[in-house]
Amino acid sequence: LPTVILVGRPNVGKSALFNRLIRRREALVYNTPDDHVTRDIREGIAKLGDLRFKVLDSAGLETEATSGTILSRTTEMTGIVLARTQIAIFLIDIRDGLQPLDLEVGKWLRKHAPKVHTIVAMNKCESLDEQGLIAAASGEAYSLGFGDPIAISAETGLGMAELYETLQPLLEEFVLHLPNVLKCEDDTLSEFDENSENNLPLQLAIVGRPNVGKSTLLNTLLQENRVLVGPESGLTRDSIRAKFQFEGRVIYLVDTAGWLHRSGKEKGPSSLSIVQTRKNLMRAHVVALVLDGEEIARSRSSMKHEEVMIARRTIEEGRALVVVVNKMDLLKGKQSSMYEKVVQIVPKEIQIELPQITGIPIVFISALEGKGRLDVMNQVVDAYRKWCSRLSTARLNRWLQKVLSRHSWKDQSTQSKIKYLTQVKARPPTFVAFLSGKTELSDADTRFLTKSLKEDFDLGGIPVRIVQRATS
Ligand code: GDP
Repeated sequence: LPTVILVGRPNVGKSALFNRLIRRREALVYNTPDDHVTRDIREGIAKLGDLRFKVLDSAGLETEATSGTILSRTTEMTGIVLARTQIAIFLIDIRDGLQPLDLEVGKWLRKHAPKVHTIVAMNKCESLDEQGLIAAASGEAYSLGFGDPIAISAETGLGMAELYETLQPLLEEFVLHLPNVLKCEDDTLSEFDENSENNLPLQLAIVGRPNVGKSTLLNTLLQENRVLVGPESGLTRDSIRAKFQFEGRVIYLVDTAGWLHRSGKEKGPSSLSIVQTRKNLMRAHVVALVLDGEEIARSRSSMKHEEVMIARRTIEEGRALVVVVNKMDLLKGKQSSMYEKVVQIVPKEIQIELPQITGIPIVFISALEGKGRLDVMNQVVDAYRKWCSRLSTARLNRWLQKVLSRHSWKDQSTQSKIKYLTQVKARPPTFVAFLSGKTELSDADTRFLTKSLKEDFDLGGIPVRIVQRATS
């Protein structure tokens, strides 16, 4: 697992953050024998959304060393832990502003840990109402030279979503660049087996423009299934989440951002906010994009610009997409010819707008009449299952040998270029193709490889990534 260390001068809240990240899990206390003293570093497995990483709390290092300056203390830390750390969360206390000791920590990090990616977190932001204070402190914290700081409260959990957003791409990057990936000839790389990943709670976001019927759909889902936690405030002030059980599986509805249980009346002209949705995508595993079937029939075009943007973003962020075409009940009787038209138009247009993925699941429903909700959930669960898939390196390479002998490769040399294939992560399935020397695959052959992989392993309709890497 990638390792994240919490650093900062005493009392900024490292331990509070550590405890929040590991929750009730066991913390291991490391005894690192040093020249004279035994220092403690707490280590635990952090859980933040769907992220898992090793977290180290450096607090124990400081309390022991009462005599030394922060510099000597932290320097001692170098050899012990930094060698196996990829990311540092540098905490400062927003209420105190930047202190000389903070500057020292910053200097020290730059000097001793130039390869460690550092994130500055302004702790003790219990209330985001203090926007002025946060803005001012952000400017100051930015001057530390580690990029934009994030505002958190380790006490209350505020800002954990933002911490997630910051860490997620970094951890993903790390996983993709595992130095020992070449050594991995079996499945030891996977920390979790396929089933356990698949059993992690599914986080579902239902998104769409106002009035397409999101609330109606959601309320029926909540009415029909065993609700474990009703609509409750989530991590950020304006997010609401609910938790229910569908066929024995726990499903979180994430970031329904205020419209849950709201009537259709009060919707303003505001449409789907791309920024808001983008944030939410981080937390969602599957995104159900709801479209208005009746409107499609009238305009003969299935997706509005903003809907296309959301769909693209969903895929770019590596999330699974399920398209839900609602209000199909309105296309009955005189309108029934329109029904068929809508059923034809939507898949075609989706294929044109989102050519990267074939077979995106599309469901036609009437949330009002309660038709098709089961289809929605089945597609959501199915997409999630695919999204969590893990293929063993042995199985992949047996397959690779076969696929390389097919005659559909554009470039003749491709067959000899691909050395082997390994899956470095799931959620979404991400593969590394090791190529001989410094070669690259042509676009056509990359597409063919992806297509074959998706077809043969039932990964259609979800984003799948293949990264090419040269072997030296
Ligand atoms: P939201 O803004 O996406 O949450 O949309 P709502 O769920 O509030 O629905 C907007 C309006 O569309 C309400 O008047 C609903 O009764 C209506 N509506 C929702 N789903 C359907 C449907 O399947 N068929 C019909 N005819 N109307 C629907």
